[in-house]
Amino acid sequence: MEQQQNSRLITGEKGEADVQLEHSLRPKTFDEFPGQEKVKEKLLVFVEAAKRRNEPLDHTLLCGPPGLGKTTLAHIIAGHMSVDLRITSGPALNRKGDLAAILTSLKPQSVLFIDEIHRLSKDVEEYLYSAMEDFALDIITGDGLGARTMRFQLAPFTLIGATTRAGLLKAPFRDRFGILERLNFYDRNSLVMILRRSAGLLNIPLTEEGGVELSCRSRGTPRVANRLLRRVRDYAEVRGNGQITTELARYSLEQLEVDPLGLDQMDRKILTLILEKFEGGPVGIDTLSSALSEEVDTLEEVYEPYLIQEGLLQKTPRGRVIMTAAIEHLKKIDPSITERMRLSGRVHSGASGSGSKAQLTLE
Ligand code: ADP
Repeated sequence: MEQQQNSRLITGEKGEADVQLEHSLRPKTFDEFPGQEKVKEKLLVFVEAAKRRNEPLDHTLLCGPPGLGKTTLAHIIAGHMSVDLRITSGPALNRKGDLAAILTSLKPQSVLFIDEIHRLSKDVEEYLYSAMEDFALDIITGDGLGARTMRFQLAPFTLIGATTRAGLLKAPFRDRFGILERLNFYDRNSLVMILRRSAGLLNIPLTEEGGVELSCRSRGTPRVANRLLRRVRDYAEVRGNGQITTELARYSLEQLEVDPLGLDQMDRKILTLILEKFEGGPVGIDTLSSALSEEVDTLEEVYEPYLIQEGLLQKTPRGRVIMTAAIEHLKKIDPSITERMRLSGRVHSGASGSGSKAQLTLE
C-alpha cells in the first residue's frame, strides 16, 4: 500500500486529488507556460496565423509522457484563438454515436481535445477520418437494402489529440494531423519557474534553493513538481516553520522515499531487479512485467521514459539493459548492493562511465 502511494506521488499520471489543484494552477497563456520553447514557438506561430486568416488551426497531435502539459496547451490554444474547447478522451468515446453527438454540436473553429487518443476504438477512429478531412460525417440510417447514407456537414473545427504512445497510432490516422509535436521532459530551470509560480499561487513560502531541490526530484514533470510541492508544504508546516528550504525539502522527500534523482521504490526495484536477477540485462519487457507484477503498459508509459531519459536504462532490440549510471546511483542509495554483487561474482571492477552499458561479468 505504502508502495502504491509513493508511486502515485511521482508518476505523471493524473490522480483524483490532482483535478482541482490542476485547475487552479493551469497556465492560461503561452507566456505563463515555461519550458518546451521550440514547441511553444511553433504552436504560437501556427495559432496566430490561423487566427489572422480566420480559419481553424490544423488538427494537432501532441505526444509525450503524462503530466508534461498536453491538456494545458489545448486550453492555451483555444484561449489564444478565443474559441470553445470541448474535452473528452479515447476511452470515453466508445460508440460512434458519442462522437457524432460531440462533433455535431461544435461551433465553427472550436477545439475538440481527445486525451489518450491511441485508446479510441477502431470504429470510432475510422469514423473520425471524414470528420477530420472533409468536416463531414456519414450517418447510415435503416437496415439491409433500405439502408441509406446521409452526409452531415460539420462546422470546421480543430482536433487536438494527446497521446503517451504515438507509435500505437496507425499511419492513416497520424497522417491526418497537420501538426505533430512531441513534448519532452522539462529542464531544471523551467521546473524551478513552474514551482515558483505554483508556490506564489498557493501562497507557499519557497526559497530559491528549496525550489531547485524540488525541481531535481520532479522527474522533469510539472504535474509531479506541483504534487511534491503540496506534500512538502505539509512537512514545512508540521515539522518546520512553514518555509520550504533545501533542508526541509530534502528531509520531506526522504520521508516520502523520493530519492535525489526523483526515483521512488518502484523505479529502484526495476533497476535492482535487472541488475541482480538478470545480470544487468538484456531482459524482455514481458519477463520484467511478470517479475514485477506490473502491467507492460505501465512500465512502458510511466516508469521507463524517465529512466531512459536519465541514462539509467536502455531499450535495445533484445530487451532492457541497465546503464552504469544506474549502478552508481543504486550504490549511493543502498551501499550493500556492491557487496551483494561482489559476493555473487557479478561485478566487473572496471565498470565505469555514466553513459555506458554496465559491464557485468560472470567470473
Ligand atoms: P498532460 O495533459 O500532458 O498529462 P497537463 O496539461 O494536464 O498534462 O499538466 C499537468 C499539470 O502540470 C497541470 O496542472 C498544469 O498546470 C501543469 N503544467 C504542465 N505544463 C506546465 C508548464 N509548462 N508550466 C506550468 N505548469 C504546467
